[in-house]
Amino acid sequence: MAIKNAYLNDLLERTKKRNANEPEFIQAVTEVFTSLEPVIEKRQDLVDAGVLERIVEPERQIMFRVPWTDDNGKVHVNRGFRVQFNSAIGPYKGGIRLHPSVNLGIIKFLGFEQVFKNSLTTLPMGGGKGGSDFDPKGKSDNEIMNFCQSFMTELCKYIGADCDVPAGDIGTGAREVGFMFGQYKRIRNEWVGVLTGKGLTYGGSLARKEATGFGLCYFTNEMLLANGTSFEGKTVLVSGSGNVAIYACEKATSYGAKVVAMSDSNGYIYDKNGIDLKAIKQIKEVERKRITEYLKYHPEAEYHEGCKGIWTIPCDIALPCATQNEIDGESAKILVKNGCKVVSEGANMPSTPEAIETYLANGLLYGPAKAANAGGVATSGLEMSQNSMRLSWTFEEVDEKLHGIMRSIFKACDDYSKEYGMPGNYMAGANIAGFLKVADAMKAQGNV
Ligand code: NDP
Repeated sequence: MAIKNAYLNDLLERTKKRNANEPEFIQAVTEVFTSLEPVIEKRQDLVDAGVLERIVEPERQIMFRVPWTDDNGKVHVNRGFRVQFNSAIGPYKGGIRLHPSVNLGIIKFLGFEQVFKNSLTTLPMGGGKGGSDFDPKGKSDNEIMNFCQSFMTELCKYIGADCDVPAGDIGTGAREVGFMFGQYKRIRNEWVGVLTGKGLTYGGSLARKEATGFGLCYFTNEMLLANGTSFEGKTVLVSGSGNVAIYACEKATSYGAKVVAMSDSNGYIYDKNGIDLKAIKQIKEVERKRITEYLKYHPEAEYHEGCKGIWTIPCDIALPCATQNEIDGESAKILVKNGCKVVSEGANMPSTPEAIETYLANGLLYGPAKAANAGGVATSGLEMSQNSMRLSWTFEEVDEKLHGIMRSIFKACDDYSKEYGMPGNYMAGANIAGFLKVADAMKAQGNV
């Protein structure tokens, strides 16, 4: 994916230099710039307004100490992050990732992607992301609460319902959001929708839990229909077994597909009869255990150590829903060789640049993350609306709105890919559509 435009190339080089230790951030910027060449050739006004220089620099980056005490009285210190990337079209919005791999570069790549994703939803949300290198695995509820309270004690100085509204991500589910919300309310003495992904008894939205996975399948379904095919009868791989993966599996199955494999960070299960999602929910949502436990429910299934092997299973459709760069060039080639025709991304940036090149070179239908997984943040936007109006919509109402948003996101990707001479390249369509709205808003608001 070489960039020919001299201006974009020069800016990319400067961005690389300035962020030399942040490979994931550079990867995300490079991908977007690759799609923007035809836009820059048409829109000198955006170059003159310095929009590109500004869009790769976060408005604000906050890093802080998070001290907490474990159940044995031992003190631990983690590092907390919030990157407030871009507020041109609305308050910063983006999740909080709790995982030992978290560092500033990871949070910046996620925040950068979020800017364009949120723009694609058509809702008024800017982009941000946060997190910590805290590992929630194996911690007691009390330890999780101690950590979340300490994290929010500092974070609450920088966020607010009209300023920055965090949500869940890897390692942050309803339990963690609840503890953070409680601490924010206690310190600030105000009940406002400062976080999304809240529990249903205190301002959460129905269908938020399902939204990213369902939304991924709504988007993928539109992409399949537009290309004369459907989920019906297809064999599907879903990596991960967390929030996104579980509800992607549920919706793909309801569309008539058979999901035959899921994974966690230790390994993957292959069940040729189709994944028993009830068992997965029990293992992951209730017991918080490892996916190998699946064999207790289905001894006839297979468990393999290591996550990468999941991509060697023959399939029609791959839905990566675990983490960044989980499909590399080699895995992408194996998918193609085994007959895979569609890759649609539930996780953020799950495909390496080499993998994406392989999809495009082999004519796969490719649903890029910032479009395909935008259903989560879109429904977070709907949760914010419900909180502001002090009312709750039914599951069906929210799901219907989510479905409509995912349809319009696919249409935008399709329309822009055609308008800019790359029909069927939904990655380019998503990047251009997401970028133009933010860029025009930035230009209109002056050099800030
Ligand atoms: P969860 O924490 O609920 O689940 C994450 C899943 O991915 C788990 O099965 C986890 O396994 C696995 N995983 C995480 N890190 C790795 C790794 N380094 N290697 C292999 N497997 C890994 O997170 P979500 O389902 O919420 O998020 C999954 C992806 O979707 C992320 O990329 C996230 O940014 C993206 N996303 C999430 C949204 C949401 O609404 N939640 C919205 C949009 C995107 P294990 O349990 O063993 O760690």
